[in-house]
Amino acid sequence: MPSIIESGHFVPLANLNSIDSNQRLSDVYRQLSQAPLTGSFILREPGRSEIYVKAPALAHAISTVVGEDFSKWEMFCSMPLGEVIARVPTTGVFVDIDNRQVEANSEEENLRRVPDRVFTVAQRGRIVGWYLNHESALNVSTKRTVFICARGHRNKDPDTGTCYTCPAPIVKTEQE
Ligand SMILES: [Zn+2]
Repeated sequence: MPSIIESGHFVPLANLNSIDSNQRLSDVYRQLSQAPLTGSFILREPGRSEIYVKAPALAHAISTVVGEDFSKWEMFCSMPLGEVIARVPTTGVFVDIDNRQVEANSEEENLRRVPDRVFTVAQRGRIVGWYLNHESALNVSTKRTVFICARGHRNKDPDTGTCYTCPAPIVKTEQE
């Protein structure tokens, strides 16, 4: 049985961005658009457990709250991520990170049996990456979030709530 770090469900540490809850929302998506894995990140918040965030799902949750209200987009874009998250419905946005660290030579099968979860993988006492045990977390990790303006231009981040190509406001999000 191959070790879990040889598995397609393993993500090396450097490939998944860690993002602090005090980063501005548009900076988060700008940073993600340049990351090896554009569709997800590990959210760090002081005093709380780390959590795996599906970035396109979070963007969609934001757009359901903000709709086409430009002043709200503008406000959310400059808001710290932690505050944004507190204001949107987060069903389907997060995947729990298991509080047990697993060894790189663990059996994959055991990790697949539990519900949707992300495991921290260690090798010789050092954290080397993450194991995403089901497709729902894995598949989203390569997706790109796009923020679409009222004229249909596609943006990699929502900037200040306005399109990069034209003066129109952001009105919706998609994943590609
Ligand atoms: Zn535009």
